[in-house]
This record gives sequence, structure tokens and C-alpha cells, in this order.
Amino acid sequence: MKKNSYLFRCPECATRNKIPAEKVGDRAVCGKCKAALDTAQLLEDRAVIVTDGDFQAKVLRSPLPVLLDCWAPWCGPCKMMGPVLDELAREWKGRVRVCKINIDENQITANRFQVQSIPTLLVFDRGIQKDSMNGALPKHQIATRMASYL
Ligand SMILES: [Zn+2]
Repeated sequence: MKKNSYLFRCPECATRNKIPAEKVGDRAVCGKCKAALDTAQLLEDRAVIVTDGDFQAKVLRSPLPVLLDCWAPWCGPCKMMGPVLDELAREWKGRVRVCKINIDENQITANRFQVQSIPTLLVFDRGIQKDSMNGALPKHQIATRMASYL
């Protein structure tokens, strides 16, 4: 599915700005508060690595809804999910940001959202946790669960 415009949530005032596809990557400003919008962020086509240090910036202030994969290197099912998440990142480019966080190295975030088992997928929109999914899920099931954000 190809869209000719994207909705980019302003990190400052949360207004959703319509960005025409041909303007992605250009400089843009929020229609309401005039904050600069980094539209290049719509171009990410693989899962974005997140840490405790940049969780706020990359997830809570994301211009798009976020699917965050909580994983660890020792977890077999997590490794199986890795390529699926990169595929989803490509397919959802400009609509949902797919992120991943290594919970062994980023325990502040893991504790904050009470990640008890992995893999766990957390969904955020507008800086608020909206949903969570536990266990290794098939791609179509994740997509169904995310339908309202796409
Ligand atoms: Zn704004």
C-alpha cells in the first residue's frame, strides 16, 4: 500500500502535520507551533535501536506511533523475531516506527514498563503506552493488532 502523504506528529505540540510523500526528507515546520520537523525520520526502513538514554526522544517523542521490541541476545524466540521486525519496518515506513531495545543493557526502560518476559512488544502513541504483546508472534498477528495505527 503506497500513500501519497504521511502524518507526522509534532514532537513539541503533538499536532499531526500532513507531509506529502515528495517532501519527505525536506525541511518542514509544524503548522501550529512552527517547530522544525525532521521529516527524514519518516524514511527509516529497518528497526531503530533504542537505549535508556534515547528512549524519550525516539519513542515518547516519535512523530509516528511506535512498535517497540523488547529483546535480549540470549533469547532464541527474540532472534527469530528480528528479521520480522525489519520487514515490518520496511512495510510500515512513514506510518509506524519499529524500534528495538536490548533489555539486558537498558534495564531502566524494562523496569519502567514492567517487561517480565521476552520477547515483548510494546505499542506507544503520542508518548503513551497503548498496548503490549507477549511471546514470539507471527507477522500477520502483529499486523492485525497494529491495524488501527497503519
Ligand atoms: Zn507543533
